[in-house]
Amino acid sequence: MTTAINYEKDIKLAKLAGFCYGVKRAVEESIRIKKENPETPVYILGKLIHNNQVSEHLESLGIHTLTEIPEILEGICIIRTHGATPQTKEELEKKGCKVVDLTCPDVKRVQDKAKALAKDGYKVIVIGKADHPEVMAIKAHADQYSESLVISSMQEVEKNIEKIRTFKKIGVVIQTTQLVDNFKQIIPLIGEHSKELKVYNTICDATFERQKAAQELASTVDLMIVVGSKESANTTHLTEILKPVKNTLHIESKEELKKYRDLIINTHKIGITAGASTPDFVIREVINEIGKIGEKTRE
Ligand code: SF4
Repeated sequence: MTTAINYEKDIKLAKLAGFCYGVKRAVEESIRIKKENPETPVYILGKLIHNNQVSEHLESLGIHTLTEIPEILEGICIIRTHGATPQTKEELEKKGCKVVDLTCPDVKRVQDKAKALAKDGYKVIVIGKADHPEVMAIKAHADQYSESLVISSMQEVEKNIEKIRTFKKIGVVIQTTQLVDNFKQIIPLIGEHSKELKVYNTICDATFERQKAAQELASTVDLMIVVGSKESANTTHLTEILKPVKNTLHIESKEELKKYRDLIINTHKIGITAGASTPDFVIREVINEIGKIGEKTRE
C-alpha cells in the first residue's frame, strides 16, 4: 500500500532577494537594444552579470557574450554591470563599433571616486578581490593618475604594511558587493599606519540590504538556502555571512536540491535568499522543488 505523507514546509523568502536595480536595468536594456536593432550584431564584453541562465537567455535572443575583444568588431558592444577599464573602452571605440555602457551607476560612482582620489594625490586602496572584473576596472581608473593597491583581507594589509606606510595620503574605496564586516575590520588596520586617510564606504545599498535581510531571516529558520551563481561575489558573500550562524546551502538551480533531499525532508523551516544576479524564475523553481520534495511518498 502506498501512503502519501506530506511534510508541510514552512518556506520563507528573504524580504530582499534576487535582481537588484543595476542588474535589472542591464538585462532589460540589452534586450531592448536587440529588439530595436534586429539586423545589427549585438555583443556583451564578458558576461552581462554572473549568471549562466541569464547568459543563455540573452544568447537565445541573439545577444552574444564575448570573452575578449576580437580583431574585427562591428555592430553594438555592451559594457556590462561590472564596468570596464578606460583602456578597454578606448579599444572598443577604436574598433568602430557602437559602445553602450551599462555599468551599474553604483559601480560608476566607485570608479569616479577612485579616479578623483588619485587625481588629488591620494594613494588609492580598493578593498575587494583583485581578479574580479569590477575591481580591475576600478583600479584601472585610479591607476591613470597613480598606481593603486587592491586588498581583500586583514592578512593582505599585513603583507603590504611596509608599502602602505610609505603612502602619505590614503584614499579607500570598496568593491560594491563586499562584506560589511570585512570592511569594518580592514579600515582600522589601515588607519593605524596612515597619516591621512579618506574612506568611502561604496558597498551598494542593494548588497547591504540583501545581507541584512538574509541575516534577519536566518534567525527565524532551521536551514538557509542561497540561490545563485558560484561566480557571483554578492551571492557567495551571502553564503559566507550565513554559514557561521545557520546551516546553509549554496545552490545554483533546483537540480542541485537532489543532493540534499534527506536534509530537506527532515527540515521544517527553510529560508531562501538569492544574490543580486539571480533571476526570479530560478528562485521560484527552487521554492516549488522544495515543496515537491516535502511531499514524500512511502511504501
Ligand atoms: S549589486 Fe549593487 S553594484 Fe552590483 S549591479 Fe546591483 S546595485 Fe549595482
